[in-house]
Amino acid sequence: MNMEEKLYTIELHDALVSGDECPFCYLERDLEQKAIEFVLGSSYMESDTRDQTDRKGFCRRHTKMMYDYGNSLGNAWILKTRMKHVREGLKKEMAGFKAEPASMFGKFRKKEPDSGTSVGAWIRKEESHCYVCGRVDETYRRVIDTFLYQVKNEKDFLKLVKESKGFCVHHFADLVDACGQGLGKKEQDAVFPVLFEQMNRELDRIQEDIDWLIEKYDYLNKDKDWKNSRDAVQRTMQKLVGGHPADPVFRSQK
Ligand SMILES: [Zn+2]
Ligand SMILES: [Zn+2]
Repeated sequence: MNMEEKLYTIELHDALVSGDECPFCYLERDLEQKAIEFVLGSSYMESDTRDQTDRKGFCRRHTKMMYDYGNSLGNAWILKTRMKHVREGLKKEMAGFKAEPASMFGKFRKKEPDSGTSVGAWIRKEESHCYVCGRVDETYRRVIDTFLYQVKNEKDFLKLVKESKGFCVHHFADLVDACGQGLGKKEQDAVFPVLFEQMNRELDRIQEDIDWLIEKYDYLNKDKDWKNSRDAVQRTMQKLVGGHPADPVFRSQK
């Protein structure tokens, strides 16, 4: 790791002891909210930020978050110049568009299976980046680096991981890949058994919770304890795909 890059040791520690179903979901939520606050705070009037939001735009999820957050004037400024950027690009693409006959189109598809038409490809490229996703991903990658750094340098770190509730399946992919690429053989031999055993154990726990929720609806079980099933739906959703589906809408406090 580049030594100039910040380590997120404290943030990672806090996330691991937070009791969340996934420390990376926990951090991601914080990063996402901070990015929304930043862009709809005062920074949307700064030309370098606006230049970036013009070029990168926003994915559907973060567009919805920006609407929910509030600040109509801020959103309007951001939309005004992003709109200009999209209109200019699209106009150029449409002006240069050459319709291909169906047979030729088939040939092109073979060469570039995902490209479709030039206009479609341009739009999809514009949809492939998002200002908020970009900001979140940048820090998230460093948090993953911090995880690896801690595995290498902090002997009690794996104990802390073991005591946490594990990871959502979505973030687990990134973690396993990062450990596979960034750790030596000896470290991998220490870390993978811990991660895999924990993943099995925690997924078993979630399965029990969701199973019991269904059982609770049986008349025969109506007086029995809920155990940990009351919020099993949202926790199972998170465990499978990441995120916090039961979170209230994130709104400006102003
Ligand atoms: Zn997660
Ligand atoms: Zn996004």
